Amino acid sequence: MSTPTPDKRTCMFCDGRGMTGEHLWPLWMSRLEVRNYDKNSHSQWLSDINEEGTFIIKQQARLGSIEDIVIKRVCSTCNNGWMSAIQGKAKPLIINLLAGKRDGLTSDSQLVLAQWATMLMMVAEFLAKDRVAISPAQRRDFMETQRPPENVKLWIGNLAAGGQHHLEIYHSALAKITPDKPFSRDHTIQSTTLGLDGLFFYGISSQENVPIAKLDDSSIMYFSDLKPNTHWWPLVLQLWPPQHEVLPTPERPITDAEFKQLAKMISEISRTPSPGATVFVGDDQAKGANTP
Ligand SMILES: [Zn+2]
Repeated sequence: MSTPTPDKRTCMFCDGRGMTGEHLWPLWMSRLEVRNYDKNSHSQWLSDINEEGTFIIKQQARLGSIEDIVIKRVCSTCNNGWMSAIQGKAKPLIINLLAGKRDGLTSDSQLVLAQWATMLMMVAEFLAKDRVAISPAQRRDFMETQRPPENVKLWIGNLAAGGQHHLEIYHSALAKITPDKPFSRDHTIQSTTLGLDGLFFYGISSQENVPIAKLDDSSIMYFSDLKPNTHWWPLVLQLWPPQHEVLPTPERPITDAEFKQLAKMISEISRTPSPGATVFVGDDQAKGANTP
């Protein structure tokens, strides 16, 4: 299934007109001043493969704080309506989590956090517009049901204090390439890794439950089998589909090195693709520059 090239003039969720800028990180979050970092610059990079099949990395230092990134792909009706309602519900929960108060995340609270993380993941994909892997139908389904759509999985954890990944988004997208079609931008699987001070989110999605890798024992791994391996289970907890009545506390915060490992998980798996389904991975990242 291919992802149609998004039309810049219409809303990524409802296809409506009347675009407004949606701040990637909500404004209420920047006012929290959760950590000192450079307000004057941030960096973005993406890896890519050109039509000759050469792997390239484009890195850009950008002026302005990462908090100033605005994505103009959401209409005012969505932005001021259901999206604003999710922000309103998520804000007190996230403020508590950032303050280290983690007790009693009930299934209702888990749903709100899953809604918030799904919304951010869907908006953040448009940082690299030709790397969008969530389908218009999945975005519309989310808007209409207010639940993460099918084939979306989310995890939550804590991030070690003082690390390098504050206000960071790391996005990997997979496109299927075959010998007769060695170049493709039909991305259908993605992972998004979010660092927000002491808070960590990891999300993956696929447009369909497709085979993604051949395992050592020659069995085929499907998207629905994909999850962080056992090393991660006490560290990142599954938020969606819900697994816990009350979310336990992670055993410990994850480190900078672990952040990178998880951020690159799907690109590592895609190096052993299932037969006939070679995948190309492209990574991109937007990151606040830390103050020295
Ligand atoms: Zn809209």
